[in-house]
Amino acid sequence: MKVPFLDLQAHHQPIREQIDAAIGDVIDKSAFAGGPFVAAFESDFARYCGCKHVVGLGNGTDALWLSLLALQVGPGDEVITVPSTFMATAEAISYCGARPRFVDIDEQTYTMDPALLERAINPRTKAIIPVHLFGQCADMDPILDIASKHGLPVVEDACQAHGAQYKGRKAGTVGVLGCFSFYPGKNLGALGEAGGVTTDDKELAARIQVFRDHGQHRKYHHSLVGWNARMDGIQGAVLSIKLKHLDVNNLRRQAHALLYDQLLGDMEEIITPFEAPHNRHVYHVYSVRVQERNQILQALADRGISCAIHYPIPVHLQEAYRFLGCDEGSFPIAERCAQEFLSLPMFPELTNEQIYAVAAELKSCISGRKPQSNCLKQ
Ligand SMILES: *Cc1c(COP(=O)(O)O)cnc(C)c1O
Repeated sequence: MKVPFLDLQAHHQPIREQIDAAIGDVIDKSAFAGGPFVAAFESDFARYCGCKHVVGLGNGTDALWLSLLALQVGPGDEVITVPSTFMATAEAISYCGARPRFVDIDEQTYTMDPALLERAINPRTKAIIPVHLFGQCADMDPILDIASKHGLPVVEDACQAHGAQYKGRKAGTVGVLGCFSFYPGKNLGALGEAGGVTTDDKELAARIQVFRDHGQHRKYHHSLVGWNARMDGIQGAVLSIKLKHLDVNNLRRQAHALLYDQLLGDMEEIITPFEAPHNRHVYHVYSVRVQERNQILQALADRGISCAIHYPIPVHLQEAYRFLGCDEGSFPIAERCAQEFLSLPMFPELTNEQIYAVAAELKSCISGRKPQSNCLKQ
């Protein structure tokens, strides 16, 4: 059986008419850059998350970057994050002229290990960005405790965690700012690039609104040097429609994850995801850990099962960050996970038959390799 990693066609087909009508509306009103459809989505998403303000932006990287600028992060500063993330988290730090400082992840949840945070703080530290990797929130309470002890703001990278919860609170509303990407493949995805920031802080929201619009506080009155980081009207209109389906789609992802857990849980060679008791994981990515991951990925591809790796190289070992001087071995958990992570097909429209097929093929690939590794051990 062929199983795609992601099927955006299946995702959009049932709501295609509503999407077409919404796009037609934007064309009729010529509200393309920012404007009323973006404002409507901002209030819809604020209500959904349970926060006071949402600022719609061009993408998730803008959300991270402008959040840090709003917190006045600049040259000479450091911002703490994890190496197990998409490059954009660190890029946003660099684009402020600051330096990323990494903290390793917890081996069970794959999010920032709070026990390692405090020793990474120094006088140059200006902010902390935990990443809610794969759709599970980082352990925010101990992170917030350490942050407040040092007077540091915590910015959530919630780009993979739309609708996820930490102790009953929605991802993006626990720290001072929450950063979202609405890239098409995310749990809440636009039909192109889009992003946004969530916050209860009126002043920070206002600052980001000015940054996203060329530093204008009033048309053609520029109080600072900003950027063009506005959300498109079409994306705002489409996101308002897709938001109505987010909870149902997250429930489907959770059901798929549960079935994967049940089918794969009896094989000790496969480490299935761990959901911390205080979390509601939304499985943007369902990643297992296996040995000889690259060979297994290829064997599955040969059998029609498309998997992915999030992410093969941790950020501190990327060529772009060689100048930071973090050698191999600096963040052992992130490095080991990067070699073992294997993301299985995960999207709301996945069928049980497909999940059974993925699980069966994965188990047979691993069993097929077993005699060899046994030989090596003896
Ligand atoms: C997707 C993603 C981003 C960046 O979002 P874009 O919309 O692609 O700019 C940042 N951080 C994480 C963890 C992401 O998954």
